[in-house]
Amino acid sequence: MRSFFRPAVDAMTGYVPGEQPKPGTKIIKLNTNENPYPPSAKAMAILHQIDGEWLRRYPDPYARDFCSAVSQVLDVPTDWIIVGNGSDDVLNMLVRACAEGRERKIVYPTPTYVLYKTLAAMQPAEILEVPYSDNFELPIEALVEAQGAITFIASPNSPSGHLVDTDQLRELASRLNGVLAVDEAYVDFASGSALALVREFENVIVLRTMSKGYSLAGLRLGFGIAQPPLLAGMFKVKDSYNVDALAIHVGTASMLDQDYKKTCAEKVKANRSQLAVDLKQLGFTVRESHGNFVLVTPPTDAETLYLALKERGILVRYFSQPGLSDKLRITVGTDEQNQMLLEALVSLLP
Ligand code: PMP
Repeated sequence: MRSFFRPAVDAMTGYVPGEQPKPGTKIIKLNTNENPYPPSAKAMAILHQIDGEWLRRYPDPYARDFCSAVSQVLDVPTDWIIVGNGSDDVLNMLVRACAEGRERKIVYPTPTYVLYKTLAAMQPAEILEVPYSDNFELPIEALVEAQGAITFIASPNSPSGHLVDTDQLRELASRLNGVLAVDEAYVDFASGSALALVREFENVIVLRTMSKGYSLAGLRLGFGIAQPPLLAGMFKVKDSYNVDALAIHVGTASMLDQDYKKTCAEKVKANRSQLAVDLKQLGFTVRESHGNFVLVTPPTDAETLYLALKERGILVRYFSQPGLSDKLRITVGTDEQNQMLLEALVSLLP
């Protein structure tokens, strides 16, 4: 069949997101690291106050109200913030602005977030994947040697859940000529952040999302923090109205409701510890995690268990690839959801 596409697109397999059942389906969904608690009531209240003018007019292309809220909460200047339709959109802007072909390649340690590869293929830009060691030590020397136009480090990383030490990221930033992008999608559940590096280095961008800690995955809102010269190129390539008016209003209220976010994150962290204890008792190997998920090796075949759970209406993520053979990534749910998962596992394990 004839192709209508660029060769780079023909060669792509495409990003495969986790299974998304139809809304309303009775499923315990522990496969895509959504927050199990509802969004902030203050954010939801905005939806009852929608002003038609917000929708009649184009939204603010710079989402300045949201930037002011972020600036207030994180103590960074407003012009150090770029907002996107989810942090995926911010990642996309960075790739469009910085990466191209063999000379301007994208480098990242694996296993990690699969979208980096998809964005590179779309651009197209060459990639260099550097494997993590078995205990997820950052391969600094290989990353420095590669000198990518962009080096992506997810911290906490998915699916491993490990947090990369800030001093190691500092060393990496100082030895890279290109951009170091620290993807902190799961920072709200972690014990540390690399945000301070943004002040120290002109080549560091930290990416954050409202999808995880703020329970707003459906809203699509994320942001990057970097010094203005690094953001300048990204502003040039972003879609003009990439964030809609509702996302700006709801996201702003949610960002300002830090107490609620912290309360939910504390519950998730407590449930994560309990889930780890319970899974270990069932014979699972559980990695320590700084995200709202745990990466586990089951005592029996991971794929069989994943399929059996699915049959019972419990979705988890199954991985089988180099560095991740026979693993499940389980999102931390509510007490009740975790309990149902454990009961299902007890009945399924030999
Ligand atoms: N980075 C990482 C490491 C992620 O796991 C995800 C979401 N699964 C994202 C970024 C994207 O988040 P969003 O586009 O929802 O902001």
